[in-house]
Amino acid sequence: MADVVIVGGGHAGAQCAIALRQQGFEGSIALIGRESELPYERPPLSKEYFAREKSFERLYIRPAQFWQDKDIALHLGCEVVAVDPQAKLLTLRDGAQMAYGRLVWATGGDPRGLSCPGANLAGVHAVRTREDCDRLMGEIDGGVNNIAVIGGGYVGLEAAAVLTKMGCHVTLLEAAPRVLARVAGPELSAFYEAEHRTHGVDLRTGVTVTALEGEGRVSGVSLGDGSLVAADAVIVGIGIVPAITPLIAAGAAGTQAVEIDAHCRSSLPDIYAIGDCASFACAYAGGQAMRVESVQNANDRAVCVAKAICGDAQPYRAFPWFWSNQYDLKLQTASISRGYDDTVLREDRAARSFSVIYLKQGRVIALDCVNRTKDYVQGRKLVEAGAAVDPARLADADVPLKALIA
Ligand SMILES: Cc1cc2nc3c(=O)[nH]c(=O)nc-3n(C[C@H](O)[C@H](O)[C@H](O)COP(=O)(O)OP(=O)(O)OC[C@H]3O[C@@H](n4cnc5c(N)ncnc54)[C@H](O)[C@@H]3O)c2cc1C
Repeated sequence: MADVVIVGGGHAGAQCAIALRQQGFEGSIALIGRESELPYERPPLSKEYFAREKSFERLYIRPAQFWQDKDIALHLGCEVVAVDPQAKLLTLRDGAQMAYGRLVWATGGDPRGLSCPGANLAGVHAVRTREDCDRLMGEIDGGVNNIAVIGGGYVGLEAAAVLTKMGCHVTLLEAAPRVLARVAGPELSAFYEAEHRTHGVDLRTGVTVTALEGEGRVSGVSLGDGSLVAADAVIVGIGIVPAITPLIAAGAAGTQAVEIDAHCRSSLPDIYAIGDCASFACAYAGGQAMRVESVQNANDRAVCVAKAICGDAQPYRAFPWFWSNQYDLKLQTASISRGYDDTVLREDRAARSFSVIYLKQGRVIALDCVNRTKDYVQGRKLVEAGAAVDPARLADADVPLKALIA
């Protein structure tokens, strides 16, 4: 029995355990994680770790000693397969059971797989865990050089950037008419498409993958137009499926994700859900129910739950932000652009330092800043204030954004 059991040893789970101790929680804490690694940061998997600029040890959220010192019991390589919310009991894959006082479900998601023929051939990879990444890196070391990346979201684009830098030939295949269509406006998509092409990526949008070809191991990707892209490895980066089955089977509300309220509570008593696996009414997206896949969301929700458990329950109000590194481009995103009806481009895209400002009914709701940290820092305040600003003033790069806050 542990007073608090956290399921999932990723960003949200690890941060929740850390925050509990920071808040002065003195009860017992158990952290159950399916992976056998100590909790580690995921973003470098498609960036510095993949590029071999950072060793795995540098990805640890905390060193091994920390968990001992804080008396946080790590149960690694363990998977929770069932939850009994009445008996407050968890069942692990090996049949062991663990009782909880409060449960925090922080299981993230598993990579969405392709459903076409050939999806399970050798040489088809996801980029979600250290293991995924190491397997792919091992193949590259073994001579794999011609790589097809399926999916033009951040993970696919970041992987394409690193692979190109390593000298691989990369074909990027995106089903939508533009990359990043789910998260950003057309200006940003067009910019990143041009960047990748300049760096040698064969980037194709509006294409459908009908099959992965090969005998035992992948050798190519067949497309809807009848063409074949030769590939000796394939990366599939088409999003995640939240890892929620045991909790939903236990009766928690939600279908695609665990539904949580403003205090990160699920519909089951004493069970919270945080991070990539949870959906909530997002104040920064007009109250729409959504999941937010970011380190910021995972960490801030973890702190919100830790405070609630320690008796300081406050509704979640954290400001959403995100970053992505590709080539020498640092993208920083403030808030969520969903529902925008106008955009303003600040500075010239050709200068590779610009911001796209998203407006809804004249008010600033989000920003994408490429190599423009100043805009990001100052622009956040415009979003927080819900500022209504003349678009011509926003577009004038000589006027600092902080000068536009009323
Ligand atoms: C390659 C990559 C690059 C990224 N880059 C960025 C970035 O630049 N910026 C950014 O903000 N975000 C980025 N993200 C997103 C960010 O990493 C996620 O939003 C964050 O990891 C979510 O944390 P989480 O704890 O909810 O889930 P995870 O970090 O996925 O952790 C969940 C853990 O729970 C475990 N688990 C699942 N089911 C069970 C079970 N039943 N029992 C026990 N354990 C279980 C999983 O194995 C996993 O270890 C990136 C993600 C990836 C994959």
